[in-house]
Amino acid sequence: MGGTKKRTALEIIRRYDGPPVRIMEVCGTHTHEIFRLGIRQILPPQVELISGPGCPVCVTPIEYIDEAVWLALEKKVTLCTFGDLLRVPGTEMSLAGARSLGADIEIVYSPIDAYTYAAAHPEKETVFLAVGFETTTPAACLAVKQARAAGLKNFSVLTANKTMPMAYASLKGSADVFLYPGHVEAVMGTEHCEALVAEGVSGVVAGFTAKELLTAFAVILAKYPLGKPFFVNCYPRVVTSEGSISGKELMASVMEPCDAEWRGLGVIPLSGLTLRPAYAAYDTRKKYAVPRLKGKVNPLCRCGEVLQGKCKPSQCGVFGKGCTPDHPVGACMVSQEGACSAYYQYGGMES
Ligand code: SF4
Repeated sequence: MGGTKKRTALEIIRRYDGPPVRIMEVCGTHTHEIFRLGIRQILPPQVELISGPGCPVCVTPIEYIDEAVWLALEKKVTLCTFGDLLRVPGTEMSLAGARSLGADIEIVYSPIDAYTYAAAHPEKETVFLAVGFETTTPAACLAVKQARAAGLKNFSVLTANKTMPMAYASLKGSADVFLYPGHVEAVMGTEHCEALVAEGVSGVVAGFTAKELLTAFAVILAKYPLGKPFFVNCYPRVVTSEGSISGKELMASVMEPCDAEWRGLGVIPLSGLTLRPAYAAYDTRKKYAVPRLKGKVNPLCRCGEVLQGKCKPSQCGVFGKGCTPDHPVGACMVSQEGACSAYYQYGGMES
């Protein structure tokens, strides 16, 4: 009767007696789900969770909002946007503020919706606000491809698309272990995460259910005390090493890498995506000669530090007072994936 009894994920987590470990939830959806599912209450005191830059709306720099407001008010285009972006503060105003001044803004649920809107309204110059990671970028590329195939002349895309792998590399050292976002890795594959192990970066890919998240934390707490960098794919039913070949091919056929500004992280070389020259007619910045704008963030807002894991939302002086989901001062309080909104919704003043 020599066999060792297998421990459950919950037992591994509850009986953890290893060293302190800082785990970064790279993805805002993980931050929200970990709060919502009550997983924070289960984790041992040695575990510190910090939020990262994996919320596309949050990392989009303020200048992007300013560009969109300029297009709506000066060029009178119709903006098609995901609802999250509407209340993100710009330098002078948010898109909601521009709408109150007469801007024509349509809320859409996918880039294809924006294409469909443009096709149905040939009299309207339509701009899709393409803010997103690898999870939504393939659909934006598909919309552009369809627009070109249909010969649509009144549709273009204001790109702020970003890719996560370059951000992981730039976040090296900001946490002991990364909780990689399952949906991003489903598209990109895990080869880049595996390669980071050689540079001393540990991480696990996690899904979004309670069971998947508990498994991911149990794997971290079993491996971290061994003192060796590691990578484990804890979401194998969805994520593979090579990712979605067709999704990556679609993106590569329409967009190419460019340097991109991330709120809080600065410019990360080749971490953004812009339309290839063959699709220049669908590039809003070229079509309307959008001027280079210099945005100004509210000095009270610490979103930049929150997104680097240097500051918890509740450590921001205006959290829950001057800044609430109804009256957001920064992007992290607006977005459904924002860390400040997660803390406000579930964590109160927890630090
Ligand atoms: S609480 Fe508000 S002001 Fe403070 S960092 Fe978060 S979004 Fe910015």
